[in-house]
Amino acid sequence: MRVDLHTHSTASDGTLTPAELMLAAEAVGLDVIALCDHDTTGGWDEAAAALPAGLSLVRGAELSCSYSGRACRGAGLDGAISMHLLAYLFDRAEPALADERSRVRQSRLARGRLIVERLRADGVEVSWDEVLSDAAGGTVGRPHVARALLRRGYVADLDAAFGPDWVGTHGRYWAGKEETDARAAVGLVRAAGGVTVLAHPAAGKRGRTLGDEAIADLAAAGLSGLEVEHVDHTEADRRHLAGLAADLGLVTTGSSDFHGTNKTTRLGAHLTDPDAYGTLVAPATGCAVVTG
Ligand code: AMP
Ligand code: ZN
Ligand code: FE
Ligand code: FE
Repeated sequence: MRVDLHTHSTASDGTLTPAELMLAAEAVGLDVIALCDHDTTGGWDEAAAALPAGLSLVRGAELSCSYSGRACRGAGLDGAISMHLLAYLFDRAEPALADERSRVRQSRLARGRLIVERLRADGVEVSWDEVLSDAAGGTVGRPHVARALLRRGYVADLDAAFGPDWVGTHGRYWAGKEETDARAAVGLVRAAGGVTVLAHPAAGKRGRTLGDEAIADLAAAGLSGLEVEHVDHTEADRRHLAGLAADLGLVTTGSSDFHGTNKTTRLGAHLTDPDAYGTLVAPATGCAVVTG
């Protein structure tokens, strides 16, 4: 059984539509795929309607959160650490969590516009209209700005756009967005019947990452798992996180974090152990896994 628990579609910053993503999942031999677009459930219905026979869909989202508190790796800087929380099988109609997703998406719009205004003020010819139309109603993110920079020839590839001279974290044209407090988010998802997994906990190239104490703190708040197998993790990261998960009684997952052509990782590049998958989803009551 092949289980990939973290993918993106055009409902956020992936390049395949939800329906195309389901067909791609079948083509690479997945049995289970989780759709985890940033701060939205906007792709759920199209994905469910397009499910090929035998493929199971775990409906989810990747929530933009920030953690403030306990010791964090990469000391020396104060303030909260931005992080991503994978939420699965929650009730999308539950109002507190739905309001929070909406608030973060609104903030992403304002922040995207601000980034474009700053670029334009420096003579960089990208327009907010083209960024917004590229996002096509999905959650707006830096990848959409990066794609505009690439189309206009300002950068050679998307990686360069995510460098310090452009929209990379704390780079020249970076701007922050509103995020949900991580402990609160874990509680909101649980209250909506879902379960949570900390996404790419050791992906240091995106900025500072949580230390073990902070992860233990989230575990105490009700976190269910750690995403261990991920393209941005070294072998040493994976060993460390697997040990930490064992200590804290957390499930470990593996996933591709597939974004279509916006990233180089292939669908199904990393997988979750079927037993770990079963343990993770068993307590969820917010919505069902749907099978085509
Ligand atoms: P945002 O959520 O708007 O802050 O944008 C961050 C998103 O950009 C991440 O979730 C990744 O999907 C994507 N990203 C980060 N670094 C890169 C990169 N080097 N190349 C392509 N996409 C990236
Ligand atoms: Zn993304
Ligand atoms: Fe992420
Ligand atoms: Fe992701």
